[in-house]
Amino acid sequence: MTYIVTDACVKCKFMDCVEVCPVDCFYEGENFLAINPDECIDCGVCEPECPVDAIKPDTEDDPDGKWLRVNSEYSKVWPNITVKGEPPPTRPSSSGKRASSRNTSAPSRAAVPDSAVHIGLIGGLPVFRDLC
Ligand code: SF4
Ligand code: SF4
Repeated sequence: MTYIVTDACVKCKFMDCVEVCPVDCFYEGENFLAINPDECIDCGVCEPECPVDAIKPDTEDDPDGKWLRVNSEYSKVWPNITVKGEPPPTRPSSSGKRASSRNTSAPSRAAVPDSAVHIGLIGGLPVFRDLC
């Protein structure tokens, strides 16, 4: 089993999840985070941190494996993120405080191929909806 990020995370990025992960297995896309299923140790610590319940065990709410596939594919090409970043300007921080600085050692998302940052290309998933 692994934990995975699902569609409620799209365009959210409060990122309360990333700093609690003991193995730093979150990866940052343009408007979504992904968990690397091969690195996740199934501790479940991140699940209650997510304010929109976007993090689920892969055994839940993913009967056809779409979100497991999204997490697996994109965690391989997106940069690792271990520090809570800036939420989009239109969305307030969940804590009401300004987010701390992000991990500047991570490679730039500009290095990721265009096809990889648009996650709607995987399985026809409606990932650009503003769900949260
Ligand atoms: S806390 Fe939840 S909604 Fe926010 S970035 Fe993490 S998984 Fe996405
Ligand atoms: S379940 Fe644990 S190891 Fe897996 S992503 Fe969440 S915090 Fe990290």
